Amino acid sequence: MTNVGTRETTKVVDGGSPLAGKMSLLGLPRARLQQVLAPHVERSFRVDQIYRAIYDRGIRRFDDVTTLPLALRRHLSAHFSLELPDVVKRHRSADGTEKYLFRLADGATIEAVDIPEGDRRTLCVSSQAGCALACRFCVTGYWGAGRDLTAGEIVAQVLAIRAVERPGTHGLNVVFMGMGEPLLNTENLRLATQILLEQISWRRVTLSTAGVVPGLRELAAWEQRPRLAISLHAPDDERRSRLMPINKKYPLAALLGALRQIPLRSKERITFEYILIDRWNDGPDDAELLHRLLQNLPSKVNLIPLNPDPVLDPKLRRPPDARVEAFRKRLAELGTRVTVRRQRGDDVSAACGQLRVPGRDPRGFRRSNFSF
Ligand code: SF4
Repeated sequence: MTNVGTRETTKVVDGGSPLAGKMSLLGLPRARLQQVLAPHVERSFRVDQIYRAIYDRGIRRFDDVTTLPLALRRHLSAHFSLELPDVVKRHRSADGTEKYLFRLADGATIEAVDIPEGDRRTLCVSSQAGCALACRFCVTGYWGAGRDLTAGEIVAQVLAIRAVERPGTHGLNVVFMGMGEPLLNTENLRLATQILLEQISWRRVTLSTAGVVPGLRELAAWEQRPRLAISLHAPDDERRSRLMPINKKYPLAALLGALRQIPLRSKERITFEYILIDRWNDGPDDAELLHRLLQNLPSKVNLIPLNPDPVLDPKLRRPPDARVEAFRKRLAELGTRVTVRRQRGDDVSAACGQLRVPGRDPRGFRRSNFSF
C-alpha cells in the first residue's frame, strides 16, 4: 500500500522528491540552480550548460552532458539526480490525445494528458496526487485527497512527455488543469511556473483554479504569473455550492472580488470554464445570469459539455448539441466572448474531469456522499 490516500502534512518545495536519496535538480529555476551548484562547479558557465542540457536537450543522465568534464559529470551523478517519474501506462485516444499514468518516487500515481493539435500541443499536468475539493462533476474529486506535488514533480511531467514525443518547446502549451487544485499548492506551483516561463511565454501557460481566494491573493503578487482560468460552472451561489463545495467557503462575490484585484496585462482576459449540464445550468436564463455575473471583468467563457463517467451521479447528463449551441449563441448575442471546447480524449478517460488515481480505493468520500 502506498500513502497516496492521505494528505501529507510536510510541504516540500524547491526541487525533487521527498524520498529521493539524492537531491533532484528538476524544479529549480535558473537562479536557484546557480546557487545550489555554486559549491560544485568551478566556472559559473557550467551551470548554464547543465540548465540547457536539462531543459533544451532533455538530458536525463549527467553522463550524457558531454560538454562537461568527465570528473564533474561523475561528481554531479554522485550528488544529484535528474530522474523523471516512471511512465506506468500510456493510453492513446482515437483523436491522438494521449493520457500518461506516472508513478512518483514514493509510489503515488498521477495522470497527465498530451493533446496535439496540428503543429501545436497542450500538456495538461497535475499539481496534486488527488484532490480534496470534491467537485461533483470530477472523477479526481471522487477519489479524494492526495499529497502536494513538488515543483520538480510538476515540471517533470512536462519533461517526461517531451522526452517521449517531440522534445522541443515549439508550439508547446502547458495547463495546470490535471489532478489537484493548484492554489492549494501555491509555492510549488510558483516555482514550476517560474521554470516554465523561462522556456515559454506566459501566454502559453494557464493555471486553472476552482476559486481558492487566498491562493488568488498570493498569485496576484507573483512576479511572473501564468494566464488564469476559473472553474465556474454555475451562474449563482446556490447551484455552484451544490456542484462545487468550495463555493460555500469562497462564494462568487469573494471569488470575483479577488479576481478584480489581480493586475491583468494588456489584452489579457480571464477564462471562465463552464461545464454545461443538461437542464441544470444550460437554459437561456442561465446564459443571461452568467453574462451579468462577468460584466466589468475582462473575460471569456469556455463552454464544456459535461463528460459523463460511470463514477459520477447519473443525474449529471451532457446536454444535446442543440442546447449547447443555443447557450453559446445567447451568450454571444449578449456580448460575452464565448467558445465551446472540443471534446478530446474521452474514449480513454483523458477528457476534462476524468483523471483518476487508478487502483486506489475511494477515500474521503463514499459514493453515497458524492451524489449530486
Ligand atoms: S475539478 Fe479540479 S478542483 Fe474540482 S475536484 Fe476536480 S481536480 Fe479538484
